[in-house]
Amino acid sequence: MNVIDVITGDIIENQDVLIKDSTIVTILGKSENNGIYKERIDGTGKYLIPAFWDMHVHIQDSSYLKMFLDYGIVGVRDMGGCVSIPTDGCESLCPDILNKWKEKIHNGEIKGPELYISGPPLSGTGWSTSLAATSIEEVQNSFEIILNNQVDFVKVYENIPADAYREIARLCKIHNLDFAGHVSESLLLSEISDLGQKSIEHIREQILYCYTNDPNELESFMVEDSYSKEDREFVKPWIDDTQNAIEAFKRNKTWFVPTMTVQFARQRYNDSTWIHNPLRKQLPKSVNDVLIKYLERMRENQDKKGDSLWWSALQKLVNRLNDEGIGLLAGSDLTCEGGIPGFSLHEELKFLVNAGLSPLQALQTATINPATYFGLNSSGKVEENYSADLILLNKNPLKSIDNTLSINTVIRKGKIYIKKD
Ligand SMILES: [Zn+2]
Repeated sequence: MNVIDVITGDIIENQDVLIKDSTIVTILGKSENNGIYKERIDGTGKYLIPAFWDMHVHIQDSSYLKMFLDYGIVGVRDMGGCVSIPTDGCESLCPDILNKWKEKIHNGEIKGPELYISGPPLSGTGWSTSLAATSIEEVQNSFEIILNNQVDFVKVYENIPADAYREIARLCKIHNLDFAGHVSESLLLSEISDLGQKSIEHIREQILYCYTNDPNELESFMVEDSYSKEDREFVKPWIDDTQNAIEAFKRNKTWFVPTMTVQFARQRYNDSTWIHNPLRKQLPKSVNDVLIKYLERMRENQDKKGDSLWWSALQKLVNRLNDEGIGLLAGSDLTCEGGIPGFSLHEELKFLVNAGLSPLQALQTATINPATYFGLNSSGKVEENYSADLILLNKNPLKSIDNTLSINTVIRKGKIYIKKD
């Protein structure tokens, strides 16, 4: 098989990859094949890459776990919430449920990806299933609940006042937890990065302004998107902060998760093939019914002009941050806006390429970048002593990113999970 080095983009042709337990033991040229294998997959002419992470999901049902693996996703970062039944897809099940599945996955009782979870987010919006964060005291009380929930990191939502935001950063440091999520207007983007927020999710306004350093371009974007004169005055500090924010991202190694799929979904509410995508049939009726209802409701309130303006700005933003060397992570935000577990990550990779990343850079956002984000130094690459979480593709993904869907075999912890032929 051909082994793809996701760091250099080199393709090492005609290799045999020897796996023992859950680790890649040796990669050797075909001529050295000494026939010691217990089980053998013929990968002739195929392409081996590390398996994927989806860095922004909301799990609402156990069926997602299988769907992730079917699409070669061996790890997900669940961006939180706390619902007990499926809702519109933008919020996750409560951490006690996810933690149970996580334990079962680790014990081998059920199959699923690695779960990295945040539980209910800290929020200043008063959203019912979030934890209150409108003052230092509230943050301290909410933090008790976070610690009891046994989460892997803290998700921040929006409208958090500056002093409360700083308290979150302080408590996270004390308890050795990362915090990641949205941004609040109380702080500039550069300040949020300096506080140590590990990743910034979505394209909220404050980050959108980084898409260009041309003030005239921004001004005409805002006029076209119906910003009033007062609105334009209000957002000026973030616009002025653009270059600082980019420098802060570099200095602090702040990651950006553009979640392009969820943004694009807003432009296809009228696309009935998307709404009735047969891949959604794999989800239980309880999940599907709410999703379809949500999509139909959204279609009625669609802001077509605004959404397409944001889409083109988002593409430019992703391209600019990529050119600046900011770390990007692939996250689909499923099942928000009708995202499909597993499949939507592949769409995200395609959108990243459409925005200007090379196919190699797109692959990195779902392989080596997540591994770096988590500090996993034996994951995210096809290399000796690395974990054997792998995807064998029929076609070369460096030629066309669409080829990530040409899945032949998925290997999870050294074992064949699916093999098509
Ligand atoms: Zn989300």
